[in-house]
Amino acid sequence: MSDPLVFAATCDIAGKVRGKGFPLSALDKRLEKGVGWTPTNVMISCFDGIAEGPFGSLGDLLLMPDAATQLELPLSDRVERVMLGDITTLDGTPWACCTRSLLKGAIARLERVAGVRAIATFEHEFQLLDHDATPGDAFSLAGFSVGRRLGERVMAALRAAGMQPDTFLREFGAGQYELTIDPTDALTAADQATMLREIVKLIAADEGERATFTPIRDAAGVGNGVHVHFSFVDAQGQPCTWDAAGQDGLAPVTSAFAAGILKYMPAILAFTAPSRVSYLRLTPHRWSAAYNNLGDRDRESSLRICPVAATDPDRIARQFNLEYRAADAAAAPHLVLAMLLHAGCQGIDEGLTAPPATQEDLSLLSPEALADRGIERLPQSLEAALDRLAAEEVVQGWLPEGFREVYIAHKRGELDELSSRSMDEACAAYAAVY
Ligand code: GLU
Ligand code: MG
Repeated sequence: MSDPLVFAATCDIAGKVRGKGFPLSALDKRLEKGVGWTPTNVMISCFDGIAEGPFGSLGDLLLMPDAATQLELPLSDRVERVMLGDITTLDGTPWACCTRSLLKGAIARLERVAGVRAIATFEHEFQLLDHDATPGDAFSLAGFSVGRRLGERVMAALRAAGMQPDTFLREFGAGQYELTIDPTDALTAADQATMLREIVKLIAADEGERATFTPIRDAAGVGNGVHVHFSFVDAQGQPCTWDAAGQDGLAPVTSAFAAGILKYMPAILAFTAPSRVSYLRLTPHRWSAAYNNLGDRDRESSLRICPVAATDPDRIARQFNLEYRAADAAAAPHLVLAMLLHAGCQGIDEGLTAPPATQEDLSLLSPEALADRGIERLPQSLEAALDRLAAEEVVQGWLPEGFREVYIAHKRGELDELSSRSMDEACAAYAAVY
């Protein structure tokens, strides 16, 4: 006999899915009352160190599972049941450090300032850890075939969890694969991105493999990016991202939103590329992102105008989307999207306009030439990114009281944990936990 358990979870600021189990038989009660949670948990780093924080042993919170996120994943010896939820105080107020509540706040802000809703999807790259580089395998059938069984099980699991699988491919790096799913509303997209990573890791383990979504495994190799695609629909649900008459096809709302992301990217980078090794990936010629630039179909731009394969205006309008490439899987998807939406809303509030899109190698330009075009090299370490975040008071205005300090303390604690490790050792440490 066994009594099935449901794992109620949050994707926390370490980008880890953490939570507590309760009997499935008590689901109704737990959906109403939640499970107990502890403020200091937010200081637990991805390596399980506890950074110095304001909470100590004090305080109590609730983790309220949301039935809409329910995952039921059959594995060879068990069924994993997981629900994501919001963290609240005991009186039901969203907790300042709940990543999912932060995203809900950002979604509401966008509706308020622009009357539009964001549609999003996360594109994921991961590597099978025990696979060395096999020259000739990139994008090949032989390389694909090694991952086919895993890919097919994952596709079925995604569909069963309510996602629409899009593609699965053998990427360029050692044992590297990419997985995409269809876009949906912003909250669901972040929930799905969170669950997708867990699904891949669980099924890989079931297959005797170890999958890692770490930002980069090896300083000399390619990274594992998280590319966040987004577009907008109006109050009637009609696409409103594209405008044939706009610069580079950007509708006014898209232009202002993109300009906000470009302006605040250096300050929010510590949220979207939040590990020490993330900054190995954010270097030129790695097809990731090294400058705060809008690029036209350029995989080296941090904000990319994606291709559209249509000539008919209705289809162009439905396909047109932008992609933020300076994110990785050390970040909670909810936090990444919340910061992008806030930065975009700030651009709308400030009445900004996006610059013309680039389509060139920016690493050939001097800092002065870049500055003339409003472009800068992104912070080149987590320390530098945290300093930019700490210095940007506008970002503070988007966030609940106390959250930014907690985040910075958490991340500085993580860096302290790695202080005696070389970059290669840090890569190995992150590969093991993401
Ligand atoms: N691996 C690259 C990254 O770190 C992305 C490659 C691609 O364009 O899919 O973002
Ligand atoms: Mg890729």
